[in-house]
Amino acid sequence: MSRVALAFDLGGTDLRAALVDEAGALLAFASMPTEARAGPQAVVEQIVALALDVREQVPDATPVGIGIGAAGPLDPIAGIVIAPPTLFGWRDVPLGQILQDRFNLPVKLENDANAAAIGEWRYGAGRGTSSLVFVTVSTGIGGGVIANGRILHGRRGLAAEIGHMTITDHSERCFCGGIGCFEAVASGSALGTKATAITRSGDGSALRALSRDSDVTGRHVIEAARGGDETALILIAEEGRWLGIGFTNLLHLYSPDVIVMGGGISAGFDLLEGTIRATIRERAMTAYRDVPVVPAELGSHAGLIGAASLVLRP
Ligand SMILES: [Zn+2]
Repeated sequence: MSRVALAFDLGGTDLRAALVDEAGALLAFASMPTEARAGPQAVVEQIVALALDVREQVPDATPVGIGIGAAGPLDPIAGIVIAPPTLFGWRDVPLGQILQDRFNLPVKLENDANAAAIGEWRYGAGRGTSSLVFVTVSTGIGGGVIANGRILHGRRGLAAEIGHMTITDHSERCFCGGIGCFEAVASGSALGTKATAITRSGDGSALRALSRDSDVTGRHVIEAARGGDETALILIAEEGRWLGIGFTNLLHLYSPDVIVMGGGISAGFDLLEGTIRATIRERAMTAYRDVPVVPAELGSHAGLIGAASLVLRP
């Protein structure tokens, strides 16, 4: 049997675990809602429980180490989760050391978006490239940068907070407290908020029909656009333009071989692609215009697969 790693993806909503082999295949998988308000100790117990679960699914697989992608900001070199806004009561938690002591296995900790970037680079849409930018567009916008075959960490591993680059001076206030962040104008939440603002409950619009007269989400906009709804198509064009502006910045900054787009909003990649490309053609300098922008391939498992590979292919 090929070597396997125990992999975890620790987010503010879900905690996922898997046994992953060297080919990037999931041999076992389990998940539960993260006890995000219960503090680090409770979550460590959840991690232990999920580890038992996946190991029972493949009893003859012996993991050689643990790879964990967790909500940032975190310091991957020191193995410390610094202060994730989505995990209550976590402050400078030495999660790497805690899990190493608990499992008696080597542990690699990485920012969840970086782990997903590594997954897509080694096993997904970025295979065979040496420089890549991964952007996940869902509730927020996150990402990771592979430069010359290495993840870009920067000081304390905090590089590539793509969602918080400022791209305008007018927007709703960002989750980070800032104004004009990429995330504040182009995330799935931002798309849903705009759709909610231009429709109203009971107006008979396709968007409100899909949301059952409640708040419209980014997913509803994609669905309505797919059905040909004009308001949704306008919102999608605007979304594609913001994404194109953000991606143009990423092309100029990192000169990747490819930009890989993941996250919930990438379900509408085919609808967004045209405007993204047109915006890049219009705004990027000539030398950057032919860089492909492609949808992610590994879906929600990218982080688990990438985290495992930190152990299996260090
Ligand atoms: Zn921000």
